[in-house]
Amino acid sequence: MEKVIVLRIGEIFLKGKNKSYFDNMLINNLRKSLTGLDYKFRKSQNRYYLEEFKEEDLDTIVDRVTKVFGLHSLSIATKVQTSEEEIAKYILDYAPNPGQSFRITCTRADKTFPYKSFEFAAKMGGVILSNVKNVTVDLHEPQKVISIDIREQGYTYIFADKIMCAQGMPVGTSGKGMLLLSGGFDSPVAGWRMARRGMKISAIHFHSYPHTSLQAKEKVIDLAKVMTEYCGEIELFIVPFTKIQEEIHKKCKEDFMITIMRRIMIMIAERIAKNNGCGALITGESLAQVASQTVESITSTNQAVELMPVFRPLIGMDKMEIIETAEHIGTAKLSELPYPDCCTVFLPDFPVIKPKLQVAIDEQSKIVNLEELIQDAIDNTEEMKLKPNYVEE
Ligand code: ATP
Ligand code: MG
Repeated sequence: MEKVIVLRIGEIFLKGKNKSYFDNMLINNLRKSLTGLDYKFRKSQNRYYLEEFKEEDLDTIVDRVTKVFGLHSLSIATKVQTSEEEIAKYILDYAPNPGQSFRITCTRADKTFPYKSFEFAAKMGGVILSNVKNVTVDLHEPQKVISIDIREQGYTYIFADKIMCAQGMPVGTSGKGMLLLSGGFDSPVAGWRMARRGMKISAIHFHSYPHTSLQAKEKVIDLAKVMTEYCGEIELFIVPFTKIQEEIHKKCKEDFMITIMRRIMIMIAERIAKNNGCGALITGESLAQVASQTVESITSTNQAVELMPVFRPLIGMDKMEIIETAEHIGTAKLSELPYPDCCTVFLPDFPVIKPKLQVAIDEQSKIVNLEELIQDAIDNTEEMKLKPNYVEE
């Protein structure tokens, strides 16, 4: 008897001819997530199996695997020699609780097994009924489904409960996007959502030291690091934004400060994205959350982008939903920390809520040496490659 993990693939199972491309990427990502652990991987039809791992690693494996996008769910199974006695013995480990209804489903790849699938399911149902009190069989809406999978090579898997995985598409199958990452709740969730659609994530952060603290920068690095557990390696670009921010403060109308800042940030992000093979920009904007997230503000920001699509996966989400996701991912406890990012310094008391695009363009043009400042910021950008802790150890 051995504990094994049965993994079910998610949406990629709908893919046609190019399914193997998605499959290979998923297996590759899965293997990376299991760095440093002993196990054996096996693939059979639409399922993967992890076997021969140390039992004390089970929780770690489950924790890592449930973060790999592209997997639908997993079950912890018992692998036994195929024989009626062995299966009857271990199926009791998966018995329903008193008061529960159950059904057994049996699949049989081994056609030499002396029973037909439905006969054997009924027989094992009988074993449970005669050993566990107060349980009933319900073939249509059971509270518990117990699976018996009789394989060809002389062994059988028994399992019951499903643990949900992260679903979505394997990271790396939908190109690469540049996430504008601030220290708040929103942008890490936005990046996670795009990674869940298969996008590889790079991130860019604008910091305004000494107006913002070094802790604010560390916080963003820590956030990106948490994201790597789902997204794999993340290249993080840290752009010095102080000079530009000071210049906007000096030259532009105070209530347009945020509008102009956003425009210049996205211009720089697009250039760095282009130089690093990204095909899209990603932000954590959510409609109406703050003054800079009205239709007019978003129009003003968007117009500063030359070509790239800007993905805003949170645009229709409520703050509470975003925070729930941040808690689920594990970024919430970092985002809660109070270090302000660069958007909170020089903040006007009354930012314009509906900026007129032409006014934004005119205000921005007051920074006559903007091109030089942008180039200087790009030249002084710090680059780092972040990986999950278990890869770096
Ligand atoms: P978040 O919770 O992500 O900080 P927020 O609610 O604070 O978002 P804003 O400050 O209006 O919202 O920022 C909107 C978006 O602009 C962010 O989600 C992020 O994508 C981007 N952004 C803001 N500040 C920065 C920054 N300093 N560096 C990189 N991107 C930023
Ligand atoms: Mg912010």
